[in-house]
Amino acid sequence: MKSHICYSSTSIMVMIICTLYFSMILPIAPELSAQVSAGNRTGNEIIMHTHSNLNVTVNGKPLIVPNGVGINSTLWNDHTLDKFGTERKTTSFGIITPAMSPLHTHDSSGMIHVESTEYKNYTLGDFLNIWGLPMEGKEISLITNGNNTKNYSNHTLKDMEKMVLKIQD
Ligand SMILES: [Zn+2]
Repeated sequence: MKSHICYSSTSIMVMIICTLYFSMILPIAPELSAQVSAGNRTGNEIIMHTHSNLNVTVNGKPLIVPNGVGINSTLWNDHTLDKFGTERKTTSFGIITPAMSPLHTHDSSGMIHVESTEYKNYTLGDFLNIWGLPMEGKEISLITNGNNTKNYSNHTLKDMEKMVLKIQD
């Protein structure tokens, strides 16, 4: 009888552990599915690394720039710049670094990371295409370091620059 009780509590523990494991792993797994194609790559070493800050408002309300743009497959909509990004890697400790577009976010603070295998001018439009933010038919203005800036899409991302993108429906 004692051993029967012991067996039941063990199986309940296994169930709990499995449920926790799969509920944690499964939502993460699709993020790792995005792959940089192996062809026409420029290398896998980051030689350019800058940061720009982006604040977005839609009709005056803040819109969070999500974590995982250019990393999570659902936030990686344009792949034309993938060859300047980095491939998925597994370290000897089994830690996986996912594939990354050269323009990406690691949190939801609005920090855009440029991590590129070549020196290139990247634009705000490049980042918005990767993110997949719909911009058609909207009135859009850009302020960079406090100055009104024409042609938001062609604006080159600069290190430490603060950008405010105002979108009106
Ligand atoms: Zn960075």
